[in-house]
Amino acid sequence: MVIPCYNEEPVLEQTASVLSEKLRYLSTRRQISAKSFILLIDDGSKDRTWKIASNLHTADPEMFHAVKFSHNRGHQNAVYAGLMESLRRGCDAAISMDADLQDDPSAIDGMVESYRAGNEIVYGVRNNRDTDTAFKRLTAESFYKLMTWMGADTIPDHADFRLMSNTAIRALSQYSEANLFLRGIVPSLGFKSDKVFYKRGIRAAGESKYPLSKMISFALEGITSFSVKPLHMITTTGFLSVIVGFIMLIYTIVSICTGHAIAGWGSMMFSIWILGGLILVSLGIVGEYIGRIYIETKHRPRYIIEEEI
Ligand code: UDP
Ligand code: MG
Repeated sequence: MVIPCYNEEPVLEQTASVLSEKLRYLSTRRQISAKSFILLIDDGSKDRTWKIASNLHTADPEMFHAVKFSHNRGHQNAVYAGLMESLRRGCDAAISMDADLQDDPSAIDGMVESYRAGNEIVYGVRNNRDTDTAFKRLTAESFYKLMTWMGADTIPDHADFRLMSNTAIRALSQYSEANLFLRGIVPSLGFKSDKVFYKRGIRAAGESKYPLSKMISFALEGITSFSVKPLHMITTTGFLSVIVGFIMLIYTIVSICTGHAIAGWGSMMFSIWILGGLILVSLGIVGEYIGRIYIETKHRPRYIIEEEI
């Protein structure tokens, strides 16, 4: 199990005990290997998260492994690092799950069962969002609709709670892009997959590390790393503006010919502001892509591991 942890001091011990119990239960029932383990990825936490991880390892070195990033690199990179570590350690499969127990651990049984039945990827899909705020529900729903419209493969509404076989993880390891959007990349790998439904609960303790600003940049990441549609939209808008411009020109010529005085001020202001706005928005969109190209061309490491136990 791969668990990304960023400042999860209030909840980590509880999560660790719930999950280790789950793994033990599944291994006594011979569903998984007795060598199965939990890999905690400390994403540069500033609280006692690493201390707790070390203590867990000391208490049960077989069950708890941990990797510490030198710096906060974000949820997606932490999950990715965990999956790569699982590959390096020769695991058959890995399940990624948040550290806050919002994802229901009882869905793990179904995931393992589905994997054993031959699926390479099993998504944990929320069948409710009752515990999320109305705002979070609305933004998430619009986001998934927007992504589908933008032409991404249909993304199951899952919160990076999924099982991946080592075949799928190996395929994922070939994606070298710096801007990782796993929810989009994993379905595009194209392996045989399945869904397991579960009820998403509330955070067991601590607070969300996804404020609105992070949600927005996550959504932008998703769109720009999967679609060039916004670029096409600029072109279309540009053409439309030119057509409107010509219509205005004809109107002006007609008014001059028919001797009407041009009441120019209003239309001038209108044109300047609308066009100015369009140009700025378009430049902004282009800029988003260029910024990402810039980041990709640097080929910097996704994360730096400071310590490993
Ligand atoms: N997380 C992380 N790095 C970050 C932010 C979050 O590894 O920079 C982890 C966090 O510890 C948790 C998971 O990502 O295990 C999901 O975060 P959170 O529960 O805060 O998000 P929410 O469920 O509120 O969307
Ligand atoms: Mg959470």
